[in-house]
Amino acid sequence: MEVIRITPRGFCEGVVWALKIAVDAAYDETIPRPIYILGNIVHNRFISESLDKLGLITIEDKKKSRLELLDLIDKGTVIFTAHGVSDEVIQKAHDKGLYIINATCKYVHKTNDYIKEKVKQGYDVIYIGKKNHPEPEGAIGANRDKVHLIETIDDLNNLHLDNEKITITNQTTMSYWDVEQLAKEIQKRYPQAEFTNEICNATQVRQEAVLKKAIHADVTIVVGDPLSNNSNKLAYISETMAKTKAYMIENVEDINPEWFKDCKTVAVTSGASTPTAITNEVIQFLEQFDYNDPSTHYCKSNLTYKNILPFIRNKEE
Ligand code: SF4
Repeated sequence: MEVIRITPRGFCEGVVWALKIAVDAAYDETIPRPIYILGNIVHNRFISESLDKLGLITIEDKKKSRLELLDLIDKGTVIFTAHGVSDEVIQKAHDKGLYIINATCKYVHKTNDYIKEKVKQGYDVIYIGKKNHPEPEGAIGANRDKVHLIETIDDLNNLHLDNEKITITNQTTMSYWDVEQLAKEIQKRYPQAEFTNEICNATQVRQEAVLKKAIHADVTIVVGDPLSNNSNKLAYISETMAKTKAYMIENVEDINPEWFKDCKTVAVTSGASTPTAITNEVIQFLEQFDYNDPSTHYCKSNLTYKNILPFIRNKEE
């Protein structure tokens, strides 16, 4: 089958930075044990499982906030993830006497600093983001009365602000076009509102590439974790803007041959937190796939954590 390899795809700068920090911590014997990661370091379960093999313990419970998850850690080291944390979380970790390693992406830091500055200046901040995602939790923090999370028009309809100073900003991994559209709706209701688009460059260029390439494919495959917002947005853009059916898979084993019954060309991309080895395995499978030859349909991943996780060191190093 013909495969369009959409580029850029896969790991972004912030993910590489967070993984390097986590793996380095695992090899650094001076850091207090145990070492915990507060939530998934990035949204990819294969990475969390691989870090577990290095002795790093991921603390995750989708029903709990980062602040609540901290209650489960009493000693050692805590690593904050690429999605960022609020000042409340940092303070609580200090108060508990934990050794802190902060792997927050610099672009998330930038957005969070912008929000804090605007709140200090008396603004209400309308934050376009995804509910129950760690990035908005870190961005909003203790400023729940002044920073308003909206995901949809309905959320906007339920918001009633009376302030001459309003600013709009957003989670870094949203759909570029959706954010622009929602910001326009907000400005119709609050014409005084300023808008600072904080979609990070890695997210934007990956989305633009999908729009440009998926249009030429019969099916798009997005390799990414169901929890990864940027991966979900790539599938969404393929379907809503390029009008190409998209399937999200975690790895090659999730592929259903029936998706390709009438398919001549498949486009492949991956989220910013998807390991390159997993995407390459998917591409290799699809390149040899022939719907009419069932012997090409068998797909089993041969990857181990050593292929999946970058920065793993050889024993002799
Ligand atoms: S997607 Fe953007 S904001 Fe998120 S970790 Fe990557 S570079 Fe940072």
